[in-house]
Amino acid sequence: MIKVILKPAREKSLLRKHPWVFSGAIEKVLGNPQNGETVEVFSSKNIWLGRGAFSIQSQIRVRIWTFDESENIDITFFEKRIKSAIDLRKSIIEKNSNSFRILNSESDGIPGLIFDKYNEFLVCQFLSAGAEFWKSQIIEAVKNVIPSKGIYERSDVDVRKKEGLEPKIGNLFGEELPDFIEIIENGIKFFVDVKKGHKTGFYLDQRDNRKLISEFAKEKNVLNCFSYSGGFSLYALKSGVNSVTNIDSSSDALKLSLKNVELNNFPKGKNINVEGDVFKILRKYRDENNLFDLIILDPPKFIESKANINKASRGYKDINMLAFKILNKGGILFTFSCSGLMDRELFQKIVSDAAIDAGKNVKIIKWLTQSFDHPVASNFPEGLYLKGLICYVE
Ligand code: SAH
Repeated sequence: MIKVILKPAREKSLLRKHPWVFSGAIEKVLGNPQNGETVEVFSSKNIWLGRGAFSIQSQIRVRIWTFDESENIDITFFEKRIKSAIDLRKSIIEKNSNSFRILNSESDGIPGLIFDKYNEFLVCQFLSAGAEFWKSQIIEAVKNVIPSKGIYERSDVDVRKKEGLEPKIGNLFGEELPDFIEIIENGIKFFVDVKKGHKTGFYLDQRDNRKLISEFAKEKNVLNCFSYSGGFSLYALKSGVNSVTNIDSSSDALKLSLKNVELNNFPKGKNINVEGDVFKILRKYRDENNLFDLIILDPPKFIESKANINKASRGYKDINMLAFKILNKGGILFTFSCSGLMDRELFQKIVSDAAIDAGKNVKIIKWLTQSFDHPVASNFPEGLYLKGLICYVE
């Protein structure tokens, strides 16, 4: 047994079932664990606290698998966790969608493990030393619980470096993936580029928010900033929009969004693609007085570490201010931040400061967050990362 003994009074978060042990909380390690190996965590008074995965390099030195001393870490453990994640997803019936996040890391009880289901294929990311250590058992457990045509790995993300892991991509089981997987979301078809797209290929976390666009977009001129494969725009087109302009810096993303318009037989003439930097293009639209009725701002994560919160906040404020400037009277802004390090209050403050700078009277009419298949375990508030506001401009 490898024992990790905490410093005095450092067991508080574990007693509240928070799954992380930071390196600074550890007094000593008795034994010589491999990266990802299972360890037993004890308080300074030698009380057993939890069983977790040791990470040699990460500041998060242990991620707890279980707080139940009788629970062993083996294939049965993973099967149990996967089954309860599936039960949660089954409890929310979504008739017109066939693609969901089915394992959401810490919040589904398997720290560092992401599984997304795209139609009949599964795409995964192993983001922690512990998940990597148990990879073959995890894959077996997934195969036993979730039928699929194939499993593809997209573990090509920077966070793996912090865990001392190399990037990995490729087929883990079953059929080779097609270049584009066709999925259905709320009755709208999308091609997902699993091999070359962002994350695992698609932003499933925005599904519920995209649906809301339909209520606002009819006969409007819509501007979708950071449009990726056209998620929000496709909903707008379905609801009978006047025009929708996509801005993205990636030409591949814009090409895919056009493919998605064609896939649904939506009117191509109403879809305008603009390749470039949102910051610059919004400024240009402001200078040209190019106005819209509905704007979506769904930028990538601007905050990578606490050190850049201020700089990133200026970025958020800038785009929100420009968006308010180019909204018509009675216009609607859907604005998001997916930076986990930005809390709700700060985001709301930035948006309200942006409204003041734009000289507009703005009312928040709805608070938004990630879709239900990205749950937040009550003992893991860090799981909440996506924040959004729907604002009305008087
Ligand atoms: N709203 C999308 C997801 C957006 S992801 C959806 O529902 O699917 C963020 C997108 O912003 C990516 O496609 C990325 O290419 C793009 N991007 C990042 N920085 C940008 C910038 N400065 N200007 C324009 N696009 C940018």
